[in-house]
Amino acid sequence: MAFTAQVPQPAKTYDAIVVGAGISGMYMLYRLREQGLRVKVLEAGTSVGGTWYWNRYPGARVDSQAYVYQYWFSDELLDEWSWPERFPDQTVMEKYLNHVADRFDLRENIQFNTRVKAARYDEKSGRWTITTMMGEVFDTQYAAFCTGGISAPLVPSFPGHEKFRGQIIHTARWPKEEVDFSGLRVGIVGTGATGIQVIQTVGPQCAHLTVFQRTPNYAVPMRNPKYGPGDMQAFRERYGDLKKRVHRTFAGFDYDFQDKTFRQTDPEEREAILERLWADGSLAMWIGGFSDLFTDAEVNEEISKFVRGKIRERIRDPKVADKLVPTTYGFGTRRVPLETQYYETFNRDNVELVDISDEKIEAITANGVRTSKQEYPLDLLIFATGFDAGTGALSAIDVRGRDNISLKESWKQGIRTTMGLSVHGYPNLFTTMAPFAPAAAFCNVPTCLQQQVDWISDCIQHSRSKGAMRVEPTRDMEDRWIAHHDEVANMTLITKTRSWYMGSNVEGKPPRLLSYMGGVGAYRQQCEDVKASGYEGFSMS
Ligand code: NAP
Repeated sequence: MAFTAQVPQPAKTYDAIVVGAGISGMYMLYRLREQGLRVKVLEAGTSVGGTWYWNRYPGARVDSQAYVYQYWFSDELLDEWSWPERFPDQTVMEKYLNHVADRFDLRENIQFNTRVKAARYDEKSGRWTITTMMGEVFDTQYAAFCTGGISAPLVPSFPGHEKFRGQIIHTARWPKEEVDFSGLRVGIVGTGATGIQVIQTVGPQCAHLTVFQRTPNYAVPMRNPKYGPGDMQAFRERYGDLKKRVHRTFAGFDYDFQDKTFRQTDPEEREAILERLWADGSLAMWIGGFSDLFTDAEVNEEISKFVRGKIRERIRDPKVADKLVPTTYGFGTRRVPLETQYYETFNRDNVELVDISDEKIEAITANGVRTSKQEYPLDLLIFATGFDAGTGALSAIDVRGRDNISLKESWKQGIRTTMGLSVHGYPNLFTTMAPFAPAAAFCNVPTCLQQQVDWISDCIQHSRSKGAMRVEPTRDMEDRWIAHHDEVANMTLITKTRSWYMGSNVEGKPPRLLSYMGGVGAYRQQCEDVKASGYEGFSMS
């Protein structure tokens, strides 16, 4: 038997600690290091990549076009990197992020296998003490939490997990080793963007697939052409414009809403536009279509009818179609997934759909899953059950600001942030992909993350140039931002639908729209205005 004692370790001192080495953490390191700060990134995984490191489940694929899902800060990087197709898979995304880490020598400032446990602010010094699960202590002036918005996995609380004789895997914790599905009876809970990708990939490979669906989704067929040198050359010629354009559109893509609303467009033209958007095979069907989809219930129903028709015609059995075609909420009020042969997967003899909104899951047994009607024998059970989005990753860390106030506890009373960038009461703490910014959900993620990192880096630089030890949003600034966020949110139909956008996938989480819905362009402009005013609404002392 080995005896161990927890020996207090001396704190290592930095100017900035960045938590997380995903898309924003890597760029945060790059920017803060560039301004001469001593920076350390603490990352729980064994390598960089964040989402693209953890979500290595079968079929994982990006559904933003790769040529806008990338870093813009280096022309050399843009010149040398080639995308193989429009929507590359997880292996390509992970390779790209590893290439960036190597290309810019980021690894020398990243400590892997390090999960942060707590962060405590000291009012007197204006500094943070960050403690890891292994008891390491870091003393830092700035703490940047780049912990991701959809990174804290949710595991359903069905009784009996421990009894199951097979294997249970959550998609966001998929093993690095390849899983062989041949001959296996596989069950999957969850039919969101992740579940859809797993189902269409695993269905044709396994002996039998049982899909446990609580809510059906409206998914759009992905058109995914391969890219050759000629395509890349054409993109490179557009990069100069694209890198500006993505910051001005509603959701950070190269496409934007139509000039006219659905109501302003005559019926024939509407139909032609919907057909064209559908054929594009991208999220343009959703956020490059009619803006009144999000605000006008009648318009939403018209567009929903169009999508329902498209889905239904692909499903052979009308009873299965009744379960797969959403009817209780409108198209686009939940995250729209892209799919490849997803609906046809349910035409296969080895794929079975169980509607668990009706036939409830009661328990996991030694043999499989038992519902209110029967037991489904399984060898492998996959949870594609999503995330505690927006607040989950930060709440998993014991963050204590001024007066030892816990961020997790105060967010339980009501989420508060200033533009998703910082929180009053937590000086020198910055966040990316936190609630109340488009980055939380309604954005082509790298667009918003780069904009947020640039803003944070500039804010820190400005504060240091003034000789300030602390930077913090005022209470008044935060109140005004939250009121604005809520006002815009309440104009949309998204607040009327149950989904992770509202936090309503997490038991006991008060429903609140996580993402700012004023648009990426408008958000960016407001951030720029704050900067141009000398950071009005932020106290620097
Ligand atoms: P999700 O959209 O939250 O879907 C989770 C699924 O699990 C839903 O079908 C949900 O049903 C079900 N579920 C959760 N808890 C359950 C329970 N206790 N019992 C039964 N069913 C349960 O999560 P996700 O699919 O992982 O996607 C999350 C987000 O990640 C996406 O919206 C997207 O933004 C991002 N993502 C992106 C890509 C991409 O770019 N290609 C791919 C995957 C994910 P209910 O709907 O009834 O709650």
